[in-house]
Amino acid sequence: QRVDNPYAGAGVYVNPEWSANAAGEPGGSAIADQPTGVWMDRTAAIAGNQGAGREMGLADHLDEAVVQAQGHDDFVFQVVIYNLPGRDCAALSSSGELGPEELDRYKTEYIDAIADILSDPAYADLRIVTVIEIDSLPNLITNVGSRPTATPLCNQMLANGNYVKGVGYALATLGDIDNVYNYVDAGHHGWLGWDDNFGPAAQLFYQAANAEGASPSDVAGFISNTSNFSALKEDHFSIGDTVNGTPVRQSSWIDWNQYTDELTFAQALRTQLVQLGFPSNIGMLIDTSRNGWGGPNRPTGPGPQTNVNAYVDGGRYDQRHHLGNWCNQAGAGLGERPVASPAAGIDAYVWMKPPGESDGSSREIPNDEGKGFDRMCDPTYGGNAQNGFNPSGALPDAPVSGHWFPAQFQQLLANAHPPV
Ligand code: BGC
Repeated sequence: QRVDNPYAGAGVYVNPEWSANAAGEPGGSAIADQPTGVWMDRTAAIAGNQGAGREMGLADHLDEAVVQAQGHDDFVFQVVIYNLPGRDCAALSSSGELGPEELDRYKTEYIDAIADILSDPAYADLRIVTVIEIDSLPNLITNVGSRPTATPLCNQMLANGNYVKGVGYALATLGDIDNVYNYVDAGHHGWLGWDDNFGPAAQLFYQAANAEGASPSDVAGFISNTSNFSALKEDHFSIGDTVNGTPVRQSSWIDWNQYTDELTFAQALRTQLVQLGFPSNIGMLIDTSRNGWGGPNRPTGPGPQTNVNAYVDGGRYDQRHHLGNWCNQAGAGLGERPVASPAAGIDAYVWMKPPGESDGSSREIPNDEGKGFDRMCDPTYGGNAQNGFNPSGALPDAPVSGHWFPAQFQQLLANAHPPV
């Protein structure tokens, strides 16, 4: 029987491979015992032996989780399902191995293979949290049609339906396993927080949760901010504030969004999803691995009331050039440490993105993982429609996505909030 919140009262799996990377860096042992997501970012990750410090396959991790679970009444294992056909249609740095039409391979070689392992009775006492397909459904809202941010691949994935079918198949197949808790990716407030995106995204999630044999009861909840940098709470301004009669929603930073931070967004999205027909006990996760924005530049009070821009920019924790920036952000820090039941409607703050793993290379690096070069990871790039033509804000000299990036890890430690 599933419980309402799998994290409540439970220990959470520490990935030994990430932990060794963290502990190997100066100062890193302070956080090397934190739980992080295990990413099945290509079919070969299921078996393991991928090199570059990624030797453990899914069963190896689960075996280790059973060992770590000893002494805990309940124990969570977090795995990220991330291999859709035509993956990452609006960016290049995490392009996947499956072509846009390879839905059948996704089902049989990837999801079925994972389900075979997760359903092993040896793991029946674990609470297995799956995070379903980062960025995919959100991309079908914002990067399609005649929007200036549209890409040909996102339009193709909208037209062929393979993101919706893939997510539906994953939910249905993994949802058949009694101890699996599926959490669907829901972008973040700086992506879906606008009226044009919020309602349509919720409807698309509902559509996917009814595709390919899935039903809303296969969904334990949703996760926001995975691998992103959006602040958990902006304390120095609220969405309803005005400055000299001008609403802060008109500031360039907020730009008519309805939300200022992840917590208000996640709670509101949860309400919307329940209204649409998801179970009333769904819970939200928020990835706080890299949204701390501490360090010397963190504002200690509101900005000046000269105008909305001065007020918001002077008070905000999130130091990005633009909310659309997503790659290896300079100045970011570790956020809240993983914790269960931190706020109403929130099942847990989690570190789904393992801190210190790159989001993408800052220049082209040949590799056999299908990873491309996205200029949003290039610190010299001046941006595009997706980030309002702002500088990328990315750190220099980054390796390809998923690879260990010591300089970023050091920044995350230095700018952690709460501090380490
Ligand atoms: C990469 C994956 C990696 C994950 C976690 C993603 O951006 O594409 O390969 O496993 O980040 O670091």
